[in-house]
Amino acid sequence: MERLCFGTAGIPLSTKKRGTPEGITRVRELGLDAMELEFVRGVRMGDALAEKVRMAARKNGVVLTAHGPYYVNLASEKDDVRIKSMERILNTARVLKKCGGRSFTFHAGYYYKDDSNKTYDIMKDALEKVVEILAAENNDVRVCPEVMGKTKSFGKLPEILRLCEEVEGIHPCIDFAHLHALDGAYNTYKEFANVFENMESRLGAVELKNLHIHVSGIEYGPRGEKRHLELEKSDLNYRDLVKTMKDFDCAGVVICESPSIEDDALLLQNEYMSLSD
Ligand SMILES: [Zn+2]
Repeated sequence: MERLCFGTAGIPLSTKKRGTPEGITRVRELGLDAMELEFVRGVRMGDALAEKVRMAARKNGVVLTAHGPYYVNLASEKDDVRIKSMERILNTARVLKKCGGRSFTFHAGYYYKDDSNKTYDIMKDALEKVVEILAAENNDVRVCPEVMGKTKSFGKLPEILRLCEEVEGIHPCIDFAHLHALDGAYNTYKEFANVFENMESRLGAVELKNLHIHVSGIEYGPRGEKRHLELEKSDLNYRDLVKTMKDFDCAGVVICESPSIEDDALLLQNEYMSLSD
């Protein structure tokens, strides 16, 4: 992408008539550039609505991403859960493609029997299948497993970066609130810069031009993420985060997941715009 696009995780709260096409129109009115379709409780969108969403996004120049269902565990001990998880991820990609979107994220699941190595292998295997199936369907949306913020969740930064290195077609969704929630780290310019340097050296410079990023304030404890907070009510150093993205000349999509999705997306965008070239 040519630049960084800021947007909301879901339909802006100030949208008068709550619908996805209306939400996209509202994103444009607010002066934002992106919206994430929240399929977190299931992928339910028929072809007719998907077409309306596609038209609204095109008309308003709004970039669409998606978030897959929460009820996913690609490393479950139960066969049916693994199969349904895969199907939910694929369906997110399929509907997003119909909507003309570019990338989607999802929570891959939990550690299998507390064995992180075994879990990594299961996840890698499952995601190779996802990429293969989508390629066979000519679906080019970007598959971006999310960096997670709970100790029990698979998807620590090194795991996600390794997956992206080893499986062609997998890209990271870096959730900076989650990164910070794990042990309170990742909150300085140097630490943020380290993430982008790592991505650049391991995945290539092109990765910094196609970011899928989540940002919000966050409350956390010994087991990581507790809940999302508004940026100003949290200790997340969003100013330095935005400055890092500017300094690395990043492009792509930054989705705000704060409780005040549009206010905080605008806060991030304004902060970004205020930095001179
Ligand atoms: Zn998420």
